[in-house]
Amino acid sequence: MLNIILFGPPYAGKGTQSQNIIEKYGLIHLSTGDLLRAEMKEGTELGKSAQQLINDGLLVPDEVVIGMINNKIKANLSSKGFIFDGFPRTVPQAGALDHLCHENGIKIDAVIGLSVETEELTKRAVLRGQTSNRADDKDPAVISKRIIVYQDETAPVADYYRKKGLYKEVDGMNSIEQVFKDICEVLDSVQE
Ligand code: AMP
Repeated sequence: MLNIILFGPPYAGKGTQSQNIIEKYGLIHLSTGDLLRAEMKEGTELGKSAQQLINDGLLVPDEVVIGMINNKIKANLSSKGFIFDGFPRTVPQAGALDHLCHENGIKIDAVIGLSVETEELTKRAVLRGQTSNRADDKDPAVISKRIIVYQDETAPVADYYRKKGLYKEVDGMNSIEQVFKDICEVLDSVQE
């Protein structure tokens, strides 16, 4: 199995690179953002309670996303592996993921952190807002809120994995093709 976390700020390109990685390595994509949007679309209670937080650029409570991830891991244990995209986003989520991995007999092989300068993130956000149907991509106040929330609550997760020796930084300012090449280099080295 190959289990990786794709880490980085909003608009860094995690979704795009996840698709590339899935195609090449056949991993199961676990995006908490996608799972939450599916709940919102279906109009479930969980979706309704998450909607306002997401539209305000805030995080949904840890226990909500941890529960969703737990279900997906358990349902796909015979797969080639997982790519966690947008999870964990807080240090307690990272601790919970350790616990889930232990419980299910799997381990995280690498955490790939895409580094992108804040100014570039804002530029990419504006571009994505022109094509995506996401309410949280359209409003400049929400875009900057999401970046601030990342810096305050999510960036410390990088240190959590640095201490474990799992964190590998990839320069996300490069072209999509170059970033993918750099990610593959990391993945091929941990897979050996
Ligand atoms: P994303 O598609 O990863 O950009 O996520 C969209 C929104 O869903 C985020 O801005 C959060 O409001 C919420 N969300 C996604 N993943 C998480 C997570 N791991 N923890 C808390 N909130 C999350």
